[in-house]
Amino acid sequence: MTVVRTVRAQAEIDLGAIEHNVRTICESVAVPVMTVVKADGYGHGAVPVALAALQAGASWLGVAFVDEALELRQSGVSGRILAWLLSADDNIAEALSLDIDVSVASVEMLSQVVQVGRDLNVTPRVHVEVDTGLARAGAAESEWSALFAAVQSHVGIGDIEFVSLWSHLACADEPEHPANTAQKHRFEQAIQTATAAGLRDFFKHIANSAGAIAHADLHYDLVRVGIATYGVTPGDELGDATELGLRPAMTVSAQVAHVRRLNTGDGVSYSHRWTASRPTTVGLIPIGYADGIPRSATNHGWVTYQGTEYPIVGTVCMDQFVVDFGDVEVPVGARVELFGAGVSSAHQWAKACGSIGYELVTRLGSRIERVYMDGHQ
Ligand SMILES: *Cc1c(COP(=O)(O)O)cnc(C)c1O
Repeated sequence: MTVVRTVRAQAEIDLGAIEHNVRTICESVAVPVMTVVKADGYGHGAVPVALAALQAGASWLGVAFVDEALELRQSGVSGRILAWLLSADDNIAEALSLDIDVSVASVEMLSQVVQVGRDLNVTPRVHVEVDTGLARAGAAESEWSALFAAVQSHVGIGDIEFVSLWSHLACADEPEHPANTAQKHRFEQAIQTATAAGLRDFFKHIANSAGAIAHADLHYDLVRVGIATYGVTPGDELGDATELGLRPAMTVSAQVAHVRRLNTGDGVSYSHRWTASRPTTVGLIPIGYADGIPRSATNHGWVTYQGTEYPIVGTVCMDQFVVDFGDVEVPVGARVELFGAGVSSAHQWAKACGSIGYELVTRLGSRIERVYMDGHQ
């Protein structure tokens, strides 16, 4: 694959792949798509991903935090943006002035948003999150009636616009899990309760990537798609990215910094967790756990050099790890790939280290340079 510029360690971001994935998702669902760009666009860069997603047909952008929404706006990203994880001290005033939709899950947070709206003389666009079985964020069932009554009374006097009722799935990546139907059932109850409270003309959404891929009955009026946007599968049961028609948008590679020959019995890296059982050539790869390479990749991860995989041997350190190249001659300065296009997927790589693709891509550190390509070559 084309390398734009050679740096010590880089994450090449293929915005063409982002656009392809967003188009693929839009074509596969009959409802609008919200592209989720929280956590700096899952490590791919929130602003470039947001622009590519809107270009490719996404209708909404979703983030967890108000600050993330502000960053998008302040970088010139237009369109609807929803921030769903508000905290008491968030700058809600700035969010409302910059036309950000916000989500609430309690009467208290609703009152706070209403008050800020009044102070600014703007009408907040409010979404309400209900818990339907994840037991994380979202209003508990016992609070629904009071919350919907409060929403209805504020809508009635023009304090707010009530935009959507939504929830989040716990087990969508396991299509047969009974929690999926249980959550659907409870979501339907929430919709009924909201309607009974007099609320009208709101839209509904509950599906993440796995929901969008595997649960057509849970698409409702919008799907909120994060990981699939980046060309990473949400989980084994849904198939790999290729089977899903998705292209990995991030390829992480690094330059071999040093090469040396080991003798039989030589211990490698901290605590000698690996010992050479034969004379062999090892290469030093200058990225480590400070860059987001899991320490659990010790003796489990691998790199690809010219199409062949070679194992990480010994402890992954803060800035570096060691790879066993056997008797292959690898020059200093050679480029090896960890995961991405044409090599192992982030999902496979993470799984071998006891993690998930989501964690691997979102935790890449700032020392790994993001290099953008538009993918239209
Ligand atoms: C992160 C997140 C998503 C996106 O999830 P994916 O599995 O990455 O598609 C959707 N909705 C909410 C509330 C989230 O927190």
